[in-house]
Amino acid sequence: MTFTTSPTPPLDTAEVVVVGSLNMDLVVRTPRHPVPGETLLGHGFATTPGGKGANQAVAAARLGATTAMIGRLGDDAHGRALRDNLTREGIRHQAVLTSPAGETGVAMIQVDDASQNSIVVIPGSNAELTPADVETAEALLASAKLVVCQLEVPLETVRHALERARAHGATTLLNAAPAMALPGELLALVDWLVVNESEAEALGGCPVADPDQAARAIERLQALGCRRVLITLGAQGVVAGLESGLHHAPARPVAAVDTTGAGDTFVGAFSAALARGAEVTTALQEGQAAAAIAVTRPGAQAAIPYRHELPPATP
Ligand code: ADP
Repeated sequence: MTFTTSPTPPLDTAEVVVVGSLNMDLVVRTPRHPVPGETLLGHGFATTPGGKGANQAVAAARLGATTAMIGRLGDDAHGRALRDNLTREGIRHQAVLTSPAGETGVAMIQVDDASQNSIVVIPGSNAELTPADVETAEALLASAKLVVCQLEVPLETVRHALERARAHGATTLLNAAPAMALPGELLALVDWLVVNESEAEALGGCPVADPDQAARAIERLQALGCRRVLITLGAQGVVAGLESGLHHAPARPVAAVDTTGAGDTFVGAFSAALARGAEVTTALQEGQAAAAIAVTRPGAQAAIPYRHELPPATP
C-alpha cells in the first residue's frame, strides 16, 4: 500500500512574515468617551488578543497565506495566552521570542455606541524587539514573499527588517501606524506604504479627509520616495497611488458595529492576496471585502473573516 501526504512547508518558512507587535487588548464598551476627570459606567469588558502585528498576521493566515511572526512577548500570563493564540491560528511563532523580565504589551481600547474607538497602547516587550532578534529569523525572511511591518516595535528594528527583506528579494509592506513622521531613507525601503487618514497626514503634512485630499497626499508621499501608496479612508474606501496612476476603490456599504482592526484586516488580507500572486485590483478588492466584514462584527481579531467568507470577486 502507498500513502500520499500533502506537502507541508518547513516550519522556518512562510509566504507572509509579519515583524511587529503582539498585545493583549483590554476592550471596554462605553456609551460615549469620557472627558478628562469624568467617571462613566460602561456596559461590557473583554480581554482579547491584539496588537497591529498579530492582527495583521491573523488576517493573512485566515485569508490563506502561510504566515509567521517575528516579535516579543513577556514571560507572563498574557504572553502565554498570546502564543497559544498564534498556535490556534496556524501562525508560525518560533521567531516570537520571550523577554524573561519584560511584560507583554497591552492596549486599552474604548469603543462607544457610535462604534468609534480610542486606544492607549503600553508597548511592554514589543519595545524590546531588536535588529539582532530579526537576524535570528534570517531563514524566515529569506523564504518570505512579503514582509509586513508596522510602527509598534522600535523604528531601528523596522528599518533592519525592511533592509533584510529587501536583501532577500522579498516585497516589503509598511503599515505606518501609529501615526508619526518618518525619515525618507526608511520610506525608500518600502514597496507598499499603507496608511489611514491620520497616518497619511502625519507623513505627508497635509489634511486627509476625503479621496481628493488623499490623492494630493499620495503625490507628496510619492515625491518622498514611496512608489506605491494606499490610503484607507474608512467607509470612503481606499485611494491607491500605483505606477498606473491614482485609483479610488470605494468601500463596500455595510452597517459597521465596531471598526477596531479594520485597517489591520485590510493589510493582512491585501498581503495574503499579494503573496499568492493576485493582481493589485484583486488584492485591493479582497482587502476591502475582508475589512467590510470585520467592521460588521465586534472585536478586532475575533472579527477577521476567513477566505471562504469573502464574496465572489467582481470583474
Ligand atoms: P484604520 O482601522 O487603520 O483606521 P480604516 O478605518 O481606514 O483603517 O479602514 C480600513 C478599511 O476598512 C477601509 O479602507 C475600508 O475598506 C474598510 N472599512 C472601514 N470602515 C468601514 C465601513 N464603515 N464600511 C465599510 N468598510 C469599512
